[in-house]
Amino acid sequence: MAYAYDDQNIFAKILRGEIPNNTVLETEHSLAFRDIAPQAPDHVLVIPKGPYVTYDHFAAEASDAEIADFTRAIAQVCAKLGIEPGTDGMGYRLISNAGEAGVQEVPHLHIHILSGRPLGRMLQKA
Ligand code: 5GP
Repeated sequence: MAYAYDDQNIFAKILRGEIPNNTVLETEHSLAFRDIAPQAPDHVLVIPKGPYVTYDHFAAEASDAEIADFTRAIAQVCAKLGIEPGTDGMGYRLISNAGEAGVQEVPHLHIHILSGRPLGRMLQKA
């Protein structure tokens, strides 16, 4: 599978500092920032700094250091937001849309972290 990365996508521009963002966390290989159109009281996007289109692309081709950093960044964001399950009925949902069927809008890997309200069931019928 060949993954074509478009470096003009909006998250590439955020990473280059061409567009501002509301940063929650920055690490060596990852950036987390608030979604511009939040679907829940907490809606944070976590992205790798490397040019990966989807989760499977990242999981197949990123270095171990990038994968560890990205995974730990998600934990750090959850801790920062105080949304870990177990605390006051909190909890969260991770979503990563990929491709056409996944209705991916921005072609740079991102994990949505959603929390702060009851999120309902995982999927609605299309
Ligand atoms: P997708 O549909 O690709 O999974 O999600 C893309 C997300 O990026 C959407 O939730 C959308 O609101 C968010 N988004 C799009 N443009 C921007 C932007 O310029 N800044 C931020 N912070 N989020 C954006």
